[in-house]
Amino acid sequence: MTLVTGRTPIPPMRVHEMDAVVVGAGGAGLYAALELKQELGPEARVGVISKLYPSRSHTGAAQGGVCAALGNTEEDHWEWHWFDTVKGGDYLVDQDAAEVMCHDAVETIINLEHLGLPFDRTEDGLINQRRFGGHTRNYGEGPVRRSCFAADRTGHAILQTLFQQCIKHDVSFFDEYQVLDLALPDGPGGRVAGVVAMQTATSELHAFRARAVLFATGGYGKVFKVTSNAHTLTGDGMAIPYRRGLPLEDMEFFQFHPTGMYKLGFLLSEAMRGEGGFLVNDDGERFMERYAPTMKDLASRDVVSRSIYLEIAEGRGIGGKDFVHLDVRHLGADVLNKKLPDMSGFIRTYFGLEPLTDLVPIQPTAHYAMGGVPTDIDGRVLADASGAIVPGFYAAGEVACVSVHGANRLGTNSLLDILVFGRRAGKRMAADLAELPAATADLDAETEVQSRVSSLLAGADGERPAVIRTELQEVMFSKCGVYRTEKLLTEARDEVAGLRERADRLLVDDKGCRYNTDLGEALELGFLLDCAEATVASALARKESRGGHAREDFPDRDDKDWLKHTFTTRSPENGRVDLSYKPVTITKFEPKARVY
Ligand SMILES: Cc1cc2nc3c(=O)[nH]c(=O)nc-3n(C[C@H](O)[C@H](O)[C@H](O)COP(=O)(O)OP(=O)(O)OC[C@H]3O[C@@H](n4cnc5c(N)ncnc54)[C@H](O)[C@@H]3O)c2cc1C
Repeated sequence: MTLVTGRTPIPPMRVHEMDAVVVGAGGAGLYAALELKQELGPEARVGVISKLYPSRSHTGAAQGGVCAALGNTEEDHWEWHWFDTVKGGDYLVDQDAAEVMCHDAVETIINLEHLGLPFDRTEDGLINQRRFGGHTRNYGEGPVRRSCFAADRTGHAILQTLFQQCIKHDVSFFDEYQVLDLALPDGPGGRVAGVVAMQTATSELHAFRARAVLFATGGYGKVFKVTSNAHTLTGDGMAIPYRRGLPLEDMEFFQFHPTGMYKLGFLLSEAMRGEGGFLVNDDGERFMERYAPTMKDLASRDVVSRSIYLEIAEGRGIGGKDFVHLDVRHLGADVLNKKLPDMSGFIRTYFGLEPLTDLVPIQPTAHYAMGGVPTDIDGRVLADASGAIVPGFYAAGEVACVSVHGANRLGTNSLLDILVFGRRAGKRMAADLAELPAATADLDAETEVQSRVSSLLAGADGERPAVIRTELQEVMFSKCGVYRTEKLLTEARDEVAGLRERADRLLVDDKGCRYNTDLGEALELGFLLDCAEATVASALARKESRGGHAREDFPDRDDKDWLKHTFTTRSPENGRVDLSYKPVTITKFEPKARVY
């Protein structure tokens, strides 16, 4: 084995020939891999490449639940869910895609139950359901119980169930391999021929040649200072195609979850409000009653987060500070310890508070990317706003934008999205495989990665990645956060560009090859900077307020000019960032004013 050190300029590339590779072992990637293997049979060479051990994927951190209109505890219909999703997304949702998701939800949850997922049960033995923000009965009349859950460890249960099934079906796993590039031998619109990855344990480089590649790499919340996202959510799967000239869709829409733990950003699930918790300001007032008279604390997340900011701005934060309180004291020991055990544990461990007797300090935390790699309803990646397909390239889960969440995602719709579209993408890949051309080497991608890694290891001076990352997170949180203006976004654009320049000269302290996380983080910083660039560019251009994108200088939604999806691209030749737009698909629900 040749080791990578500062003195070993180019390590040899190890080559793997596969039929299909799935990058990412969260819920989306695992469900896709399972489908692929089931459709193609035991001979198929299906590999899952993951920079984390699969059970550490962020899906495992998902708490509150996954929704489907099962109607197990009260009347519900998938069409109501469809409407809620479209309204929740502030009408930027592609309604054909949301129809597929909400309709298929019911069968998907039953399928997961059959695969072994231990859902909480009603007394009659049915899957139990609870309330979540923005999910309503009869097109907005009031909250409905639609979220299926396994205590407050729903994502953990999903991940374990799917991982076990993949092992059972002999999916090959390449754990702790970080994908760094995509092979596109014929340029941005051409076919995909595989990926290039670095093995974390040894820093060796591997080329995976495959006719079909699925990206299921999750989000990029780490671009913000206060976030619920894991350290590893650095937008790799968005930045890689963006660098290769492919578009990112609707990146200006990033969700801030109302109930992050103050200063820490860790999430306290919306299930705490779903079970009856509520927010109070410094006057002890349940202020959400003023902002959302019908849904109150269960209005959609963008509405609740903005309301918290307004309370703080008007001096009603607790003690005049930048947080408010979540009150769950009245829920009682039974609900807190049985239905919300992890949440109650977080409050006790990290704050030293007792949820049964104490109020809990919370502030909005960067949570979820509505935007991402544009796809159709079968996970096929779009090459441009006209809808052309990139042959052999698929994306699903948080990295993708189908778009089912539009400008704001409803709670529990992400776990549903990763399941429904992860599975559909797997099926589609299996069906397409026979037609896709044989994979060939893309020496450009392979040598490009070799020289990027070698030069990072060789550099003797420059700035430490963590310094630039911290500055980036500050800029994005303060200038491209819950409220935005032309001035703030212009500053953010220039500052991100400055950070990108500084990141050309990075100092990677560790020159070794064993678990060189220093090197991994330097590479991830590059991905974060690319995601930030696309986010700020699209936010600066969108002169309206819609869902997660709130412009103080353009406070209203403007359907006449802005009912459209943003496609952001960067030219690989000259680095110019360009924006183009794609119409929203409206099939049933005409845009209306959004009140909760
Ligand atoms: C704290 C928290 C709680 C949440 N609770 C809920 C909830 O209750 N309900 C809900 O619907 N949604 C919830 N969400 C959102 C939801 O969990 C995520 O959107 C969803 O799990 C994303 O799944 P995924 O499969 O797309 O990606 P992830 O689960 O994030 O997995 C990404 C995978 O990609 C791999 N990867 C990334 N980069 C690379 C690379 N360069 N090379 C190789 N592999 C790579 C990682 O190793 C990982 O396996 C929550 C999110 C958070 C952060």
